[in-house]
Amino acid sequence: MTTLPPPFTFSQSSLQDYADCPRRFRLRYIDQLSWPAVDAEPVVENEHRQIEGQLFHRLVQQYYLGVPSENLARMANTANLERWWQNFMNTYPIGLPPLSSISDIYPELTLSAPIGNHRLVAKYDLVAVQNSQVTIYDWKTSARRPRDEWMSVRWQTRVYRALLVQAGSHLNTGKPFEPEQIEMIYWYADFPSEPTRFKYDAKQFKRDWSAVEKMVTEISTVQDFPLTEDEKMCRFCVYRSYCNRGAQAGQMDEADTEMESETVFDINFEQIGEIEF
Ligand code: SF4
Repeated sequence: MTTLPPPFTFSQSSLQDYADCPRRFRLRYIDQLSWPAVDAEPVVENEHRQIEGQLFHRLVQQYYLGVPSENLARMANTANLERWWQNFMNTYPIGLPPLSSISDIYPELTLSAPIGNHRLVAKYDLVAVQNSQVTIYDWKTSARRPRDEWMSVRWQTRVYRALLVQAGSHLNTGKPFEPEQIEMIYWYADFPSEPTRFKYDAKQFKRDWSAVEKMVTEISTVQDFPLTEDEKMCRFCVYRSYCNRGAQAGQMDEADTEMESETVFDINFEQIGEIEF
């Protein structure tokens, strides 16, 4: 029997893990099992790509904190980083007005709100407020651009917009944002001219928040966290050998589905440690 100790801090990643595989949620967040397996082969190449993804997020964060772009360009010293950084600078503003004209820019913003006996937390790459509109930006360094339909149902898309309504009033002179004021943009470093844009409305907000509440209630009360029946989920999961779902990691260049591509290549801000400049 497993009982979730309150208050438990939920995030888009843990909700997505539960949706993908309840056992992965249990191993990662309840048992906190560090399993010494790689998520993709070849190991070195995969690790390089993940580190580059983290560095790219840091470069953009430093840019919005005011570090001159020339200084940051010198840090983009690998082929991937150099290309991503050039794409970022060349396609700026990516739907953003000029840096100087945005009244409020919040890189690395963390928001949280209570949900039942627990908390929901999100770390945003960038939130920009201008003329009573608020835009959530998320930088993606995955090797493939996912379909918009697929991104629209990811827990990240649902949680980030809903939590901004629930917990973002301090960014809006003390009043909660109306869902209609919110837009979320995924910008893909390797596909700079093809961002995904998601507007928001009250109906979607109601649906999303109720889905989060339902999921949190379910996770808080279930006794069993079964292994996923969809064994494709296991190909790039570090718990493969623990679960007897195969010892060999999938090959990076075989990550052919959107789920696999995101699992292997994508970096979200929650994974980023401190990097000194
Ligand atoms: S290996 Fe498969 S069953 Fe085990 S935690 Fe990972 S996704 Fe779930």
